Amino acid sequence: MSRVVVALGGNAIQRAHDSGTWEEATRQMRRTAGSLASVVREGHELVVTHGNGPQVGVLLQEEELAASKIPVLPMYVAGAETEGQIGFLVAQELSSALSRVGRRRAVIPVVSRTEVSRRDPAFRSPSKPVGSFYSAQAAQRLHSENGWTMQEDKERGGWRRVVPSPIPLRWLEGEAIRAALDAGLGSQCVFVVTGGGGVPVVPGSGGHWVGVDAVIDKDLAAALAARQLNASDLIIVTDVPGAAVGFGTPHERWLGRVTAQELGAYLRKGEFAAGSMGPKVEAILDFVRHGGRRAVISDIPSLSAAIHGEAGTQVEGPGAPPGPSRLRRSRRTRGRK
Ligand code: ADP
Ligand code: MG
Repeated sequence: MSRVVVALGGNAIQRAHDSGTWEEATRQMRRTAGSLASVVREGHELVVTHGNGPQVGVLLQEEELAASKIPVLPMYVAGAETEGQIGFLVAQELSSALSRVGRRRAVIPVVSRTEVSRRDPAFRSPSKPVGSFYSAQAAQRLHSENGWTMQEDKERGGWRRVVPSPIPLRWLEGEAIRAALDAGLGSQCVFVVTGGGGVPVVPGSGGHWVGVDAVIDKDLAAALAARQLNASDLIIVTDVPGAAVGFGTPHERWLGRVTAQELGAYLRKGEFAAGSMGPKVEAILDFVRHGGRRAVISDIPSLSAAIHGEAGTQVEGPGAPPGPSRLRRSRRTRGRK
């Protein structure tokens, strides 16, 4: 049985033109859940992870509006809140999608914590924009009052808070979830893990973990989770069919099956934008270089084809069997029984 980690991008949860209602999110997740259920129906063990950018943005805005009445919580708590919120959404829709295909599973969201290092250079140069846009004057005030690092977004006209985006080192609950899966729980459960990259924590004194205001890239965290779970496959689903070279130019070329060397060379040449496609490519390379069998970037409708090696940008690890993927062969074998 293959252990497949699927990372859901923003548009699997909420589409760009949506106004942000729960009904819209439910409808979109229902579509996504149909594709996820097909992974389980084909006999694979499924683990789901997801982003949380827009949802954290909304929470921060809500806190700002209510700040005169309700204490403002640390930003990392918003990470935990969205793990619950989106985990609940996935649980609602995926459990019914699974029942519909005759694969009853308990969908279990895990409020995950991810260790980062205080010495990570990202803490010296915050780069990830979060929350509202402000005037230059308001930005100056927020900087002096809260110590926030503010940065101008010239394109969209305004100032925003930027926070560090450190490298995820370890998912704290990973070993326990892996043990549960290794004991066979994957036939009863689908875990939803490291949502939004997991809540960033650093080791404090006396064995306490301390939350930090930072944003962990969900794709890098997905690769880490896939490694810790000893997954065979990592599939990153987003709003484009894969990674392209010459993206947005007349010479644009979408990549299908590529070697890790080739993909790494394109990455170093700067073919994949930092903060969007860049971390996805880094994530799939990281996974196959650490023993993963196959890693794919694809869109949601192609999820099933992606698992069979027929869609998306695909890289295989040294452990992958030559020729058609093992996943595909195992499907044929099952058909013959
Ligand atoms: P997600 O929410 O799924 O993580 P992102 O917006 O972070 O989505 O990343 C997907 C986006 O990456 C695409 O919509 C595309 O505009 C952008 N992108 C940047 N560079 C490339 C590239 N070289 N090939 C494909 N997409 C790219
Ligand atoms: Mg992204």
